[in-house]
Amino acid sequence: MNNIRNFCIIAHIDHGKSTLADRLLEMTQTVTQREMKQQVLDNMDLEQERGITIKSHAIQMNYLQEGQKYTLNLIDTPGHVDFSYEVSRSIAACEGALLIIDSTQGIQAQTISNLYLALEHDLEIIPVMNKMDLPNAMPEVVEDQIIDLLGCEREDIIRASGKTGEGVGEILTRIVKDVPPPVGDPDAPLQCLIFDSVFNSFRGVIAYFKVTNGTIHTNDLVKFVATGKQYQADEIGVLKLKMNPRDELSAGDVGYIISGIKTAREVKVGDTITHVKNPCDKAIAGFEEVKPMVFAGIYPIDSDDYEDLRTAMEKLQLNDASLTFQPESSAALGFGFRCGFLGLLHMEIVQERLDREFDMNVITTVPNVSYHVHTKGGEILDVYNPSGMPEATLIEDIEEPFIRAQVISKSDFIGPIMTLCLEKRGILKKQDYLTADRVELTFDMPLGEIVFDFYDKLKSISKGYASFDYHITGYRSAKLIKLDILLNSEPVDALSTLIHFDNAYNFGRRICEKLKELIPRQQFDVAIQAAIGAKIIARETVKAVRKDVTAKCYGGDISRKRKLLEKQKKGKKRMKQVGNVEVPQKAFLAVLKLD
Ligand code: GDP
Ligand code: MG
Repeated sequence: MNNIRNFCIIAHIDHGKSTLADRLLEMTQTVTQREMKQQVLDNMDLEQERGITIKSHAIQMNYLQEGQKYTLNLIDTPGHVDFSYEVSRSIAACEGALLIIDSTQGIQAQTISNLYLALEHDLEIIPVMNKMDLPNAMPEVVEDQIIDLLGCEREDIIRASGKTGEGVGEILTRIVKDVPPPVGDPDAPLQCLIFDSVFNSFRGVIAYFKVTNGTIHTNDLVKFVATGKQYQADEIGVLKLKMNPRDELSAGDVGYIISGIKTAREVKVGDTITHVKNPCDKAIAGFEEVKPMVFAGIYPIDSDDYEDLRTAMEKLQLNDASLTFQPESSAALGFGFRCGFLGLLHMEIVQERLDREFDMNVITTVPNVSYHVHTKGGEILDVYNPSGMPEATLIEDIEEPFIRAQVISKSDFIGPIMTLCLEKRGILKKQDYLTADRVELTFDMPLGEIVFDFYDKLKSISKGYASFDYHITGYRSAKLIKLDILLNSEPVDALSTLIHFDNAYNFGRRICEKLKELIPRQQFDVAIQAAIGAKIIARETVKAVRKDVTAKCYGGDISRKRKLLEKQKKGKKRMKQVGNVEVPQKAFLAVLKLD
């Protein structure tokens, strides 16, 4: 156990975590040159394309230093706020962390939020300044920021480059020297912390864990504490580039278990594995059920595809335990599913996977958060969908989720960022200068305002120089109302939103204007109205046009005529018939695109 080092790498997105991990694997010869392809750890297609690590992984390296053999377990963590609970569980499995900071960018919002998570778990922090090969590196400035943040010495900071390999040897030396070996009693009752799981179509769900106490053997009968389920450990082992089976793993080790588990939901990140006989007294602290925070309806464009969509969602859920869905129906869109996601990125990933892996053609409705509704009758309802909101007269109070948000930016942009955050009902809590020209702003804000168009706006007003991170702090009461949209007097449930009363008029007007742009002319006038209850607050009209595409053909060439008609039909495929009005897919997301 004294020769084991368990560590993770934490960084803001794009600061070079995956690239440095690759260099560590190369230098320790964990991966041969032939096996080495760019970013072996991000092995899901989508991750590689988007350059983000969606799921955390673990890999073991052997390292020889001064004649001593060491086992280094690198536990990779996802780099996005949507997955911060998973980050916290990976961190809980480690004793040390490499804190990577891009020397051209300096400290960013996720650098700080991930660092706090690591410090909460008493991890030894090794600061690494990356991308030193770039001509615009600002080592002194960034070092000052790091010293300020960590209270470390200038000499403690490793200067490195994932590109040239500079500093990688020093990183390995420091991991051995600075990161403490794991503690734990191999003879105590078994306690393993699950920090991740993956789905394998041949072997079922594979759970990754760290043994914090005790020893586990192949074929042991084990129990997962939170789910209460029992399994036989068919195979246990350590993770190299491939799985390497072992007969036993004990306190301090990081490994995997295969036990015939069929669905991802049975393996909960943060859960404790123990023995059925002689179990541990207590589960490992910090377990939480992850709850989806963002919801949206997903509907097949062609209603005949409903069953196929269900099958696709079920398959996605096999390896994505945080995705939830239940059938719902919409007067406008027919039969579909109300889906729950961890956040917006997670929602985009699911949409993209439905499209790529299952070839599903779907409409996604405007995302919303979940609300606690207190009725006059004294009930408390969880509402996941604006159209599921009870009548206004029956509501005593509505509560919405609130976040604590951190924005880090150049001080030049403070003004516009403040304006944006206040517009989004944010309350400024703190303003800290990290250096003379970089500032950290802390806001309390409703999550519901972030799910609209916050990221895009923040990016554009700061010219890309602002970073953002948040965590949920709880629910707060708010004056929210339901805003309905009517097309030719018919309410379109899929276009309803919940919105703060003070913004409703302005919002109603802008959404009608946007829909007017997005809904094509039809053979009759289309009235677009925004309403609060029975009261119309805004109106626009799409004027009728008689579009006869065959008119140009002079009745002559019949095959040309047919071709044109077919073309027109295809064009319609991406439209959804709502009442007598044809509505393009984009219109259902119009709220996200308001100027
Ligand atoms: P991650 O999001 O933290 O995992 O970052 P990646 O490892 O995916 O790197 C983000 C981008 O920066 C990629 O385009 C890398 O090729 C590039 N990159 C990473 N490390 C270095 C470095 O040391 N020098 C240079 N010049 N580019 C780097
Ligand atoms: Mg990465």
